[in-house]
Amino acid sequence: MNFYVMTLFPDMINNAMSESITGRAIKSGYINVNAVNIRDFADNKHNRVDDYPYGGGAGMVMQAEPVYMCYKHICEKIQSTKPLHVVYLTPQGKTFNQKMAAEYAHEENLIFLCGHYEGIDERVIEEIVTDFVSIGDYVLTGGELPALVMMDTISRLVPGVLNNCISAYTESFSENLLEYPQYTRPENWRGKSVPPILLSGHHKKLAEWYREQSVIRTALFRPDLLKKAELTEKEKELVDKVVRHGEQI
Ligand code: SAM
Repeated sequence: MNFYVMTLFPDMINNAMSESITGRAIKSGYINVNAVNIRDFADNKHNRVDDYPYGGGAGMVMQAEPVYMCYKHICEKIQSTKPLHVVYLTPQGKTFNQKMAAEYAHEENLIFLCGHYEGIDERVIEEIVTDFVSIGDYVLTGGELPALVMMDTISRLVPGVLNNCISAYTESFSENLLEYPQYTRPENWRGKSVPPILLSGHHKKLAEWYREQSVIRTALFRPDLLKKAELTEKEKELVDKVVRHGEQI
């Protein structure tokens, strides 16, 4: 999987992605991260890429031409015959979620466009952007953190990136449920024991417990997700009970 990031702050991208799991995935060749500096495509001696907004108003706007030239440079590098996804990170986009991450994980190349200041000249957005994605209803100073959030999430779904590839598909939001609670050693921590079922080694009962706990958690913390989850009649009764009695279950 090849990520290309059009940005004014390539170090932000490279530094964050070179750590931990994504860093190992880069070293092992499962993912590639190419942060391309939009400023390198400025056509003036001060390398300026922003200007005042037409019509007035606060802040500066990134100019169309350096962004367009940066995009052209990336397209030449990729030389893909398939249409490419160009994702503009924007608070005005569709809110990113696990399902979108799973879809993007099938792509061979993904291009991200990070805005800054008040945003980017609309004309280049119209020309090159295919997808508009937000990471939530709040406004950040730039698109770099959102691009990192997306790349981190998508990378985990690229085969080989996680040691245990099953885990990415049993985690929260798969099947519209949250994941069950996790425990590790010691067996007894400050008087609190791990649930005995986890020590039983009984795989069928364990699977049932995991599923039940997922349903309870989701009913408690994210009942909105349950509208799309496929539940058995017994699980629906459990949800009703959780809703009526809260954490007492
Ligand atoms: N003036 C823009 C507006 O009101 O929609 C916000 C511009 S914001 C200060 C600068 C850049 O940060 C945006 O161009 C975008 O790339 C990025 N950004 C800010 N918040 C974001 C969010 N919630 N999700 C994705 N990108 C975001």
